[in-house]
Amino acid sequence: MYANIIIDISHEKVDKTFQYRIPEKLEGQIRAGTQVEIPFGAGNRLRRGYVVGLTDRAEFDTARIKSISGVVPGSVTAESRLIRLAWWMKERYGSTMNQALKTVLPVKQKVRQKQVRSVCRLMTAQETREAAEEAGRRHHRARERLLLALSDAPRLPYEVVTNQMHLSPASLKLMAEKGLIALESETVFRGPHMDGGLRSEERLRLNEEQQKIVTDFTDRYDRGIRETSLIYGVTGSGKTEVYMEIISHVLKNNRQVIVLIPEIALTYQTVMRFFRRFGDQVSIINSRMSAGERYDQFDRAKRGDVRIIIGPRSALFTPFSDLGLIIIDEEHENAYKSEISPRYHARETAQYLAEMTGASVVLGSATPSLEAYSRALEGRYRLFCLSRRARADSRMASVQVIDLREELKEGNKSIFSRKLQQAMAGRLEAGQQTMLFINRRGYAGFVSCRSCGEAIRCPHCDVSLTLHFGQKLVCHYCGYETGMPSLCPSCGSPYIAGFGTGTQKIEELTKKMFPSARVLRMDMDTTSKKGSHEEILTTFADGQADILIGTQMIVKGHDFPNVTLVGILAADLSLYTPDFRCGERTFQLLTQAAGRAGRDHLAGEVMIQTYQPEHYSIRCAAAQDYPSFYRQEMIYRELLCYPPVCQMMAVLASCGSEDTLNEAMDDLARWTGQAPGCETVQTIGPAQAPIYKVNDIYRKILYLKDENYDILIKLKNCLEDSSRQALWHGHVMVQYDFA
Ligand code: ADP
Ligand code: ZN
Ligand code: ZN
Repeated sequence: MYANIIIDISHEKVDKTFQYRIPEKLEGQIRAGTQVEIPFGAGNRLRRGYVVGLTDRAEFDTARIKSISGVVPGSVTAESRLIRLAWWMKERYGSTMNQALKTVLPVKQKVRQKQVRSVCRLMTAQETREAAEEAGRRHHRARERLLLALSDAPRLPYEVVTNQMHLSPASLKLMAEKGLIALESETVFRGPHMDGGLRSEERLRLNEEQQKIVTDFTDRYDRGIRETSLIYGVTGSGKTEVYMEIISHVLKNNRQVIVLIPEIALTYQTVMRFFRRFGDQVSIINSRMSAGERYDQFDRAKRGDVRIIIGPRSALFTPFSDLGLIIIDEEHENAYKSEISPRYHARETAQYLAEMTGASVVLGSATPSLEAYSRALEGRYRLFCLSRRARADSRMASVQVIDLREELKEGNKSIFSRKLQQAMAGRLEAGQQTMLFINRRGYAGFVSCRSCGEAIRCPHCDVSLTLHFGQKLVCHYCGYETGMPSLCPSCGSPYIAGFGTGTQKIEELTKKMFPSARVLRMDMDTTSKKGSHEEILTTFADGQADILIGTQMIVKGHDFPNVTLVGILAADLSLYTPDFRCGERTFQLLTQAAGRAGRDHLAGEVMIQTYQPEHYSIRCAAAQDYPSFYRQEMIYRELLCYPPVCQMMAVLASCGSEDTLNEAMDDLARWTGQAPGCETVQTIGPAQAPIYKVNDIYRKILYLKDENYDILIKLKNCLEDSSRQALWHGHVMVQYDFA
């Protein structure tokens, strides 16, 4: 047996491995992640390295391969665990070891870290609060926000203030010059951790349901039980308070905590709650940080300066020495599944990591994934429930479903039903806020011909072009742009026009209907700039707009106390996507969107406009009835044998030549039928991918299903082996993706 070993685990160097022989006496002791001593270089000086993989094939002349000298005793470092995790990810999701290592190991910077920078208050909490009020009176919103935050937590990391709270370095400098704040940087740490700004008597008293979860968790944790729990709690039921209580218990046991939050919900309000409670023991990472900034955070975690890390899925790879708990908030979110190889899911990866480190996992959601909820019902997860809103003065919003077919029958051709129009007018009069939600960006913002019915399509992709500002046609898949033609490219008719209801269109119509209303729009176009996402949300939260129009993005995370009306314009759009999860996605989106209304003492109203009022995803979302949705959706999954009833692997092949692609797909399907030990596998396809052509590349999909995940893995390895011998190898890209 031979081992591949890396000596330098900095990001760029992980593909530089050296092969060594495993001497007989060490066999069985060595696996991925083991730290070993090896003779290195011409002088054979002993060096330490990490094993990243085992093989029985020697890569070069066996006579010249040196042997491993020994295993470094008692050296299970954070790195060796991460390397072991990478090995698992490679096996489970099908990637190369390199890709997996690059995913889990932090990027080491050549230039050493700058310093830990922070923003501190100079005055007492009371004085800081007064300064915030003063800033508010002068409409210095950003300044007000920061001072308010500092009145709760006397010190905030510089990155949080700039990334999450959206203050520019220039305005921070100005505030420092005025003596409102101090900017500090230090390389030496401050010693004992500052406790959060809140004393325990100021903390919220947990309600009975919340307390029950905390007691149960801490009790079992103290008895050494490590497991996965799912908290199914309606929107606003106080899940975050529960997380914080549990975290505080785990910290008391001197262990560390990873909290995953979908990036889009990682708002400064959420972040501030953690800072108020845990002070500078908390650190945040987000994808907008530079590799160096992220490395610094990981480094601080490794040294023990930070004990809670909050971030998107990549925060899982924080090298804590003694991880005790992983929390995954909004567990059902798409963002927890990686889109690039290794296409790992954070939920499963967290569970494997927790097993390795002896940690517990807590999942939370108002709309749990079918995977998580079914496991909880089977008893594989502990299931907890928060059935009511936590704030005594906050009730669930009242929800109405409006049938758009009826509207049309009555002669209303507008995209706004009459009820929604009235409600919006009422909110404007009352000085309350409205959110309008549309399922997808520019979904139907295409241009088509009224004579021949053809939509104008991208010449490189299999999608229609989207109209922007009435003059430019854009492809959202490849970026192709062209002017709006005056004649139909298919039949030459002059009667072509933009149709449908993209976010821009809704903005335009809203402004026409309510000329005096202040309208904000949030979608991919308005948020492409760094920080613009936060800026729009804070502008709205600060009450500087009456109506916020947006896509999925506006649904998550934010608490807007003054929003009392949520209009969902085309609730069924997401039911038409070619994905077996579309019913689940629709239910999640509608439920989360409805949860935005009436978060405070003002009563909330939600209007769901749809052409399919009888669909169970829509009916159950309107009734805010997850269990009932779960039952009906599971029947569908069982009938068609989709996950979580079955395991599913998609084989996606793409190629510039259609003929070669067809040949490859036929081969893959045939090999599947012949693979030994894989007779139980069901095949669907091959079929064209939902979007057949993107950027002049054709794409086809083969779906493979089996009850047993291991059989799918075996089949994948088999297909990979056969592909290597094929004539088309190197011309067709084949990707494997587990649903
Ligand atoms: P979730 O994470 O489930 O959406 P949050 O933890 O954000 O819910 O709580 C929603 C609101 O209820 C917050 O404003 C929070 O401060 C408040 N809240 C939570 N728990 C309690 C409690 N026990 N008593 C009073 N208010 C609470
Ligand atoms: Zn035409
Ligand atoms: Zn295109």
